[in-house]
Amino acid sequence: LHDAEPHLAAGLAGGVLYPQDAQVQPALAAAHLLRASGARLHLGAEVTAVLRGPGGAVRGVRTPRGDLLAPAVVNATGTWAGELAALAGVTVPVLPRRGFVLVTEPLPRVVRRKVYAADYVADVASDSAALQTSAVVEGTPAGPVLIGASRERVGFDRTLSVEVIRRLAARAAALFPVLAGVRVMRAYQGFRPYLPDHLPAIGPDPRAPGLLHACGHEGAGIGLAPATGQLIAAALTATPAPLDAAPFRPDRFVERSPA
Ligand SMILES: Cc1cc2nc3c(=O)[nH]c(=O)nc-3n(C[C@H](O)[C@H](O)[C@H](O)COP(=O)(O)OP(=O)(O)OC[C@H]3O[C@@H](n4cnc5c(N)ncnc54)[C@H](O)[C@@H]3O)c2cc1C
Repeated sequence: LHDAEPHLAAGLAGGVLYPQDAQVQPALAAAHLLRASGARLHLGAEVTAVLRGPGGAVRGVRTPRGDLLAPAVVNATGTWAGELAALAGVTVPVLPRRGFVLVTEPLPRVVRRKVYAADYVADVASDSAALQTSAVVEGTPAGPVLIGASRERVGFDRTLSVEVIRRLAARAAALFPVLAGVRVMRAYQGFRPYLPDHLPAIGPDPRAPGLLHACGHEGAGIGLAPATGQLIAAALTATPAPLDAAPFRPDRFVERSPA
């Protein structure tokens, strides 16, 4: 452990190294993908309705700036995907799972990789709505160290939680004692798009022909974006999918009527 991460706390039992781990700066990665796609952007145009033809097939969307007609509509609205789905008359039960991140002042290579405590794995898989915190500490090439991870289902509550921030800082400093004397520049929060079985919804929706979903990726949507794009492209062009998309069927959440 010391050879891989010299600043880790002494006395830790052991660790697992993932040599294939990689990092991207999400906004930069998105900008590059958009530029490479050649797509035409309509920024700031909220979809207020999904247009459907006489047979029920989706034929475009309505925005305050006018209708956009298209033979296929991809619902990639992240944590708000349930609302977009509802506009098309279907249910995709995406919920927000709030998380905070602390960003430290720039440091020399104190933390080399993304390092997390093993209880993080259990937190990710948990169905609990209650607050969970585990240490995730990630060095970046630019210098700041990112500190997470918290998970809680509190709707879209944007109130800063000092309790969560305190817990994250304490756990990070326990893993990397050198961080105890480091300043935090800022903290931010976001809402992971959570589906009850922790898998995304990707592909055509048989309940609304012409509607496809690419949403519900929870805490892995940056990493899973390219593969999601490949699955959606395969569905749109009727070409073989690069992997079996059955586990991601958007209509897998059957409404259960009360017993
Ligand atoms: C604290 C935290 C840490 C994370 N860490 C990681 C990580 O280490 N690795 C990783 O891979 N992922 C991570 N994630 C998860 C990742 O951020 C998400 O999975 C990902 O951003 C989801 O991308 P998306 O494109 O589906 O949704 P978003 O990025 O949320 O994009 C959805 C877009 O749809 C727009 N929209 C919504 N409704 C409408 C409408 N009606 N009309 C028009 N537009 C609409 C929104 O404005 C938004 O721009 C983290 C998330 C959080 C909160």
